[in-house]
Amino acid sequence: MNYSTLLFDLDDTLLDFKAAEDHALQELFNTMNTTLTPEIKKYYKTMNRHLWADYEQGKISRQEVTDSRFKKLFANLGKNVDGSQLDQKYRHYLTQGHQLLGNSRRIIADLANKADLYVVTNGVSKTQYKRLEDAKLLPYFKDIFVSEDTGYQKPMPEYFDYVAKRIPHFVAQKALVIGDSLTSDIKGANNAGLDSVWLNPEAKQLLPDVKPTYEVKDLEQLYPILGTSFDEKA
Ligand SMILES: [Mg+2]
Repeated sequence: MNYSTLLFDLDDTLLDFKAAEDHALQELFNTMNTTLTPEIKKYYKTMNRHLWADYEQGKISRQEVTDSRFKKLFANLGKNVDGSQLDQKYRHYLTQGHQLLGNSRRIIADLANKADLYVVTNGVSKTQYKRLEDAKLLPYFKDIFVSEDTGYQKPMPEYFDYVAKRIPHFVAQKALVIGDSLTSDIKGANNAGLDSVWLNPEAKQLLPDVKPTYEVKDLEQLYPILGTSFDEKA
């Protein structure tokens, strides 16, 4: 194995976040007796993405993201709501979403026999643990690092410092960050001096100041990078 410590992002790397998000939004709108149109969904996703981008850059707290997003969304629909309360409901539904992305569980099960696996995720701890557990992925990981618990988030250098300190005998040269986000996963790996794999199934454009060590279309393409092959028995 070319790398012995694999640091996996969770959303849109191992689990299908879009499916979980769509499910949660629909359920939330059902409880509000409001029709979720494609336009509203698009508005929400764009706004939510910008809020999380501000969080990644340390401009706002995670609490500000989760308290403001539904307040803003429903204000846009002419409704005054308790943003924090709606967010709790939303996260309850989001927690139910644990659809696997592609072959991720079989690949994780196999790689767990060959390397030490960890999860590195920005998000809410309770939500992420529950989804990992329901997706039957939890047993394959030696530890889970959720930004809510670490106090820092990807791409902050402090986030990966925290992770490195908590992994026994961590060797930076043998560690590989695997994720779909250039601005959090790959930028975070760059900031920490770690090699990285950009999972880019939709062939998105690279950003000028972010440098993934490798780029793949799916998780199967990790095998040549790791210098091993998929073992069917796992
Ligand atoms: Mg992700």
